Amino acid sequence: MGRTQRIRTKACDVCGDTADTLFRIQHDATGAWIFACKPCQVEASTDNPHYTYGGTWKSKKRH
Ligand SMILES: [Zn+2]
Repeated sequence: MGRTQRIRTKACDVCGDTADTLFRIQHDATGAWIFACKPCQVEASTDNPHYTYGGTWKSKKRH
């Protein structure tokens, strides 16, 4: 197995932009968990009865 250097970023499930910090949230009646970037997380949390916050994903390891 080769050691492939992968860039640890994820794409926002709402807008598709990649970010190194994403928020794991539920934002609709299906209860599906998605990853959202900060602007989308703020928008999803505003006036949304389905919004649930489930944690933060960061690309950088903690030191
Ligand atoms: Zn987004």
